[in-house]
Amino acid sequence: MLGARHSVGASSLAFDEDRVPGVVRPQRLLIDIKDAGITFDGKGGRVVAVEKLDAQIRTHEFVSIVGPSGCGKSTILRLIGGLARPTAGRIEIDGETPNEARLARRFGFVFQQSVMLPWRTAIDNVMLPSEVMAEATLKRRDEAMRLLERVGLKGYETLYPRQLSGGMRQRVAIARALSFRPQIMLMDEPFGALDALTRQKLHALLLELWEADRKTVLFVTHDVAEAVFLSDRVLIMSPRPGRIEEEVSVDLPRPRTDATRSLPGYLALVDRILARLIH
Ligand code: ADP
Ligand code: MG
Repeated sequence: MLGARHSVGASSLAFDEDRVPGVVRPQRLLIDIKDAGITFDGKGGRVVAVEKLDAQIRTHEFVSIVGPSGCGKSTILRLIGGLARPTAGRIEIDGETPNEARLARRFGFVFQQSVMLPWRTAIDNVMLPSEVMAEATLKRRDEAMRLLERVGLKGYETLYPRQLSGGMRQRVAIARALSFRPQIMLMDEPFGALDALTRQKLHALLLELWEADRKTVLFVTHDVAEAVFLSDRVLIMSPRPGRIEEEVSVDLPRPRTDATRSLPGYLALVDRILARLIH
């Protein structure tokens, strides 16, 4: 475990005043996880999915969680997002419980397989959450249009999910998550099912969106290169029962571009994290 854990959140990279003249975005603690764990009791006996989890995530940070399959990455996102309750320790989102934060719509969720209603067009899928919130239709439609444009889907609003490629469906999923106007994006291997080129395009899109409003992003992936490319910090998990074994600060300049992928510093970080996961 790194001794510097509690200071890395203040990484200067997560907050760069120079590129956003006049906009000051001081960071503060947003997600506070203390000694949290979850045990499942099932037919096959008890499964300690996550234990002794400690992490602090600050506003405007982009943090990734990497680890082998089954180590508890999705479970951690579910715990933070208020979709599962810890059986040990505690998690606070800006002083609220995860469930309170979920009910206050602080989270935008994006999963690997976006859940879309097949009988609704792209724009109607984006509008779904705000319909539940019963906002005025015209305003909702305008905002959904604007969001689809932001994710590069202008002109595709009236297509149905079956008419969209996997990458386009994930763009719709991002637009829909943003329609909640969330403070925190919780993304669970959102690009895991996409081909390499599409994934790179979505990396660029996600970073562009993040640079624009600096929502806190918690991004789960088993792709180490993806985690390094996107993040301010990478949390490395051990195999089950999942714990955070190490935190790595990604001190690479922003904005990140395709050129970032050939920087020696980038390659060294990817190697270092891979080596940590293998041992
Ligand atoms: P990852 O996302 O890293 O692949 P998960 O968080 O999905 O891992 O799962 C971690 C472990 O917890 C796995 O062994 C999984 O089988 C177990 N697990 C997750 N959810 C449940 C559940 N609802 N009931 C029982 N076991 C579960
Ligand atoms: Mg998972």
